[in-house]
Amino acid sequence: MTPPPFGRLPEAPLERRNLVYPFGMARPADGGLAEVAEGVFWLRMPLPFSLDHINLWVLDGGDHWVVVDTGVNSPAVADHWRTLLAGPLAGKPVGRIVVTHYHPDHVGLAGWLSRKTGAPLLMTRGEFMLARVLTLDCAPEVPADVIAFHAAAGWSEADIARMEAAGWGRFARGVARLPTGYRRLRDEEVVEIGGRRWQVVVGSGHSPEHGCLFSPADGILISGDQVLPRITSNVSVYPTEPGADPLGEWLASIDRLRGLPADTLVLPAHNEPFTGLHARLDQLAADHQDKLDRLAAFLTVPRTAVECFPTLFGRRIAAEEMQMATGEALAHLGWLLHRGLVTAEADGRVNRYRVAAPGSGGAQGVAHG
Ligand SMILES: [Zn+2]
Repeated sequence: MTPPPFGRLPEAPLERRNLVYPFGMARPADGGLAEVAEGVFWLRMPLPFSLDHINLWVLDGGDHWVVVDTGVNSPAVADHWRTLLAGPLAGKPVGRIVVTHYHPDHVGLAGWLSRKTGAPLLMTRGEFMLARVLTLDCAPEVPADVIAFHAAAGWSEADIARMEAAGWGRFARGVARLPTGYRRLRDEEVVEIGGRRWQVVVGSGHSPEHGCLFSPADGILISGDQVLPRITSNVSVYPTEPGADPLGEWLASIDRLRGLPADTLVLPAHNEPFTGLHARLDQLAADHQDKLDRLAAFLTVPRTAVECFPTLFGRRIAAEEMQMATGEALAHLGWLLHRGLVTAEADGRVNRYRVAAPGSGGAQGVAHG
């Protein structure tokens, strides 16, 4: 086995909000690597969003490297990869590329890296197919059903005009062309990497079929965006599936992840590695439950999704956050709607939600924006 080309991060445990960060707030520099467990290397890449970084992982596969997530398609991230491939990783080839889910900061450079190294791309089917579809979905104009979806949520004419001006197909810009074919990862499948057995653990709600990797022997979870220590992962209803119940899927995934050991070392896609998985899952579930309770109390009179923003988020929503806030609001409204706790009524182009009268028989036949 090649000796590790990068230093082991020193232990410096730091406790915050019932989570323990075993390496404190230490982190590799952009484009740099640090070993967090034997053969598991933490790599940080810059992001051009308000969220300024993503964590990627490089696993020692014995005679090859396995890359987990790839960073967004940008010249800066590609430059970091070139430097790594020519330097610290030059001792052996990249043999496999695993991507947790379809978001551009994760899948962005997967196609580019696959072509550059010849390594196959491993993803769950739901994530690969959605990424492929979205990279091909470019049009000169925002589709009419997408505009109707946002109008139904209560967007103003000005908000809609801003969306139309931004155009359609932003996803494709953040993602390099994907390979035509991929290797499918299935839930509970075991992937062997350098003698370590990683079990695929699928979650849902943030994305349709998010693949995490769990090593039972070493108690390590590469969690992608399924569990983050300080950020609440976006859980949204999108125009692609207006009647979806992503929050129901998200909360079910939280229950499922509670089945992993409490002392698991979680390697998240954003922020720092931590232990305290169960405490974090409890915090996430409680945060959503709190939002649902506030919404139910607010919906004694009919309201649009946009009118629910102050109750849900407790702060002003900037123009560029409108889409995400709308998706989140619809996810919480959808959860209540699917369980018959609120009803929705179409009023012209706009949907309004209110708490269901007791014994009203639930959500059957109700329009859902
Ligand atoms: Zn994501």
